[in-house]
Amino acid sequence: MFTVTRAHAGQPSSRADSTFTGEVWRDPILRADGINAGNVFFTPRARTFWHIHERGQLLIVAGGEGFVAGREAAVRVAKGDAVWTPPGAAHWHGACAERFFTHTAVSVGQVEWLEAVTDEEYEHAAATASSVG
Ligand code: MN
Repeated sequence: MFTVTRAHAGQPSSRADSTFTGEVWRDPILRADGINAGNVFFTPRARTFWHIHERGQLLIVAGGEGFVAGREAAVRVAKGDAVWTPPGAAHWHGACAERFFTHTAVSVGQVEWLEAVTDEEYEHAAATASSVG
């Protein structure tokens, strides 16, 4: 009844590019019952495209610093922070300009990919992001 994937026994790390800006690498962890878990590694300024999670997404920051940004607001996050993005909310996540950023992402349901985050949108998020808590 359990789905178990052992660390380092799965697929190799892969460079993600079609729905990301900058250099991003992914390590898949597990897929089961609509859950897709993976670790994502962003170099400074690298980020996802805008996207929507059908049933939401939990991000747990494993290292570095970055942003999680929606259409209305952005937050700056660092190691140990956790962020829930609700179902249907357009958003992106990525590294701050000065540091790398890594997170574990647990996505629920399908992902709808939208347009790339422009440099102007990135700079606006960076300039207005609040800190968690
Ligand atoms: Mn997301």
